[in-house]
Amino acid sequence: MGLKPEGSSELLIGGKLVPGSGGTFDIVNPATEEIVGQAADATVADMDDAIAAARTAFDTTSWSRDHAFRATCLRQLRDALQGHIEELREVTIAEVGAPVFLTSGPQLEGPIADLGYFADLAESYEWETDLGEAKPMGIKNSRRLQREAAGVVGAITPWNFPHQINFAKIGPALAAGCTVVLKPAPDTPWCAALVGKVAAEETDIPDGVLNVVTSSDHQVGAALSSDPRVDVVSFTGSTATGRKVMAAAAESLKRCFLELGGKSAFIVLDDADLASACSMAAFGVVTHAGQGCAMTTRLVVPREKYDEAIALTRDSMAGLQPGDPANKGTVCGPVISAVQRDRVLGYIELAKTEGGVIETGGGRPAGRDKGFFVEPTLISGVDNSSRVAQEEIFGPVLVILPHDGDDDAIAIANDSIYGLSGAVWGTDPDRIRKVVDGVRTGTMAVNGGIWYAADVPFGGYKQSGIGREMGVAGFEEYLETKAVATPA
Ligand code: NAD
Repeated sequence: MGLKPEGSSELLIGGKLVPGSGGTFDIVNPATEEIVGQAADATVADMDDAIAAARTAFDTTSWSRDHAFRATCLRQLRDALQGHIEELREVTIAEVGAPVFLTSGPQLEGPIADLGYFADLAESYEWETDLGEAKPMGIKNSRRLQREAAGVVGAITPWNFPHQINFAKIGPALAAGCTVVLKPAPDTPWCAALVGKVAAEETDIPDGVLNVVTSSDHQVGAALSSDPRVDVVSFTGSTATGRKVMAAAAESLKRCFLELGGKSAFIVLDDADLASACSMAAFGVVTHAGQGCAMTTRLVVPREKYDEAIALTRDSMAGLQPGDPANKGTVCGPVISAVQRDRVLGYIELAKTEGGVIETGGGRPAGRDKGFFVEPTLISGVDNSSRVAQEEIFGPVLVILPHDGDDDAIAIANDSIYGLSGAVWGTDPDRIRKVVDGVRTGTMAVNGGIWYAADVPFGGYKQSGIGREMGVAGFEEYLETKAVATPA
């Protein structure tokens, strides 16, 4: 059966695939600027129906209590999606502009396989804990804790790693026994809509348990974050939108889980292999055109090696020119849209007004008049207080900053409103440990270490977010705790 829509994809509401009340909207291939197809354009009224369906499914079915059935459904979803993997890969490259090499990892195959981790967790989790007996107020009681599904989850996601982020919400929320309304980004509706189609047609997931609402209108996401029938809003996106989501959620005091922006530091210590560190930093920021919240976009190097580090990083970045994302050798594809490209180019112009030097890149690549491509760009000569060192650019742009020793490097890393991720490169384990302990972020990579995995919680300190996604911690975001006491 073909998965890719001939025309428009549909919404999934209450177990039915339906058109959007707002008609359809176009999906643009960011590498070619051609129209890939259309997606159903939901209105606030469609969102209302989806929330009602999720509420009814939660309140009137045994979904939240039948752990084994949920595990079965999640494995069905994983297996069915794996059966469509090549079509999904094609869509992901066309809609997201994701380099094909990433689709065997976090852009597609990784998060689909990870549904199995959450299915296992539904079965193995300790849903009840015996707290034994105690004598509160002199009366003997036996006590236990029950963990229960939190209710209806509103999942709002961005466009940069759509499958990774959609499944990091759907997987644990369904495994926990919640019902879900997924509202993907307007730029990447098919990545979500096709999952809805597979769930409806090829799994036993009951009607209303998973709803997928694509829309070109951000207000449809706003309606989800403010609706009192929703118990948890799980949001990934920019810090600016995250603030609005939290304010909207405050009205009905719903639980708010936020994965937001980052401006992570890559710290190079003076005993590090400078060439390896610089080439890793360059590769990291150029991958998927820098559109990753956890990417290390500030390279912080010993002041005495600043010039050498600039030369090494410049050469590495210049060797990673943007290309067709469908090509196996491409590391840097396009950015998602003309708006995003212009935003990134605007930051490069801003760097110049802040006294920055463009060491390589700085514009659109020659010979690519179609597609939203930006040259890998290295900025030197600014300090950490500049806007290009403080604000999230979300393009293949790296700012290189000098430090005066390990403590100064830690201070620079922490001088940010964000605290999402980071990296350190060095030789002495004690000094590396001091940096890891000193930097206030949710993840740290040591000498190129990779923390990304289904069982590793991911999330931020400070204005990078609230809560953790993936792992047991990510699963428990979707649970409530009930304490039960009986006179013994
Ligand atoms: P965005 O904040 O513009 O949009 C994210 C989602 O929120 C979209 O689905 C959008 O339609 C919806 N939305 C917009 N306004 C809303 C409102 N008022 N109420 C409710 N929903 C609303 O983000 P983006 O441009 O799609 O994605 C890029 C951003 O996402 C970057 O800042 C990046 O750092 C962040 N991000 C963070 C993580 C993380 O895990 N920390 C992961 C990926 C991306």
